[in-house]
Amino acid sequence: MAINKIEHIGIAVKDLETSEKLFEKILGTTAYKREAVESEGVITSFFLIGDVKIELLAATNENSPIAKFIEKKGEGIHHIAFDTSNIINELSEKLSLGIQLINTEPKDGADNKSIAFLHPKSTNSVLLELCQEKES
Ligand code: ZN
Repeated sequence: MAINKIEHIGIAVKDLETSEKLFEKILGTTAYKREAVESEGVITSFFLIGDVKIELLAATNENSPIAKFIEKKGEGIHHIAFDTSNIINELSEKLSLGIQLINTEPKDGADNKSIAFLHPKSTNSVLLELCQEKES
């Protein structure tokens, strides 16, 4: 069993610059990095609060999952990500427990992570991400 902690909370935003400034005000700290994830059509901005991160996500094109999310639900909490020490084991365990997966195999995420999403149909409509720090 290897879910270690909440790694980050992802928040979908329309405009990264505007929301970065807002969250800098709210959190009293500055974003420590910005990173684009081309494959997902997103640009992200990270804040560190204790050892949990807040990840702001803005779409970089209209086919981005974030663009679709905002179109449907508006800005807001997009996903909760759990840190795991072995994402492959964790995914196959979840699958064997009857949890539907969006990604059956880990893919590259922001912040040097391998990531995979569980399907909201199986998780009370909350998009959950599993992530593992990549060794490099
Ligand atoms: Zn995430």
